[in-house]
Amino acid sequence: MAYSYDDQNIFAKILRGEIPNDTVLETAHCLAFRDIAPQAPVHVLVIPKGAYVSYDHFAAEASDAEIADFTRAIGEVCRLCDLHGGGGEGGFRVISNAGPHASQEVPHLHVHVLGGRPLGGLLA
Ligand code: 5GP
Repeated sequence: MAYSYDDQNIFAKILRGEIPNDTVLETAHCLAFRDIAPQAPVHVLVIPKGAYVSYDHFAAEASDAEIADFTRAIGEVCRLCDLHGGGGEGGFRVISNAGPHASQEVPHLHVHVLGGRPLGGLLA
């Protein structure tokens, strides 16, 4: 499958520094920043710096170092934002929309990290 990536998407512009963002974390291969229209007290987007349109694209073509960095960055964002998923109080939700069926708005892979309030049942 050939994936096509539009380098004029808004997150590509954020990565190039053309649009400001509220950065939570930057790593070698990822940037995490607050969503401009938060759906919860904590709503952070984690994106790889590489040009990947969706999670399946990323999993198919990213290096092991990029995949490890992305996975760890998501967990680090939860820690930095004081969201805990391993028992006790609190918790969080991680979502990645891909393609029209999931209403993906920005065609650069991103994971939403949501928390800071009860989030209801699946996809509530
Ligand atoms: P999607 O529907 O593609 O999964 O989510 C895209 C997300 O990007 C939305 O939650 C939207 O609020 C956020 N977003 C869109 N444009 C910008 C922007 O310029 N800056 C930031 N920080 N978030 C944005």
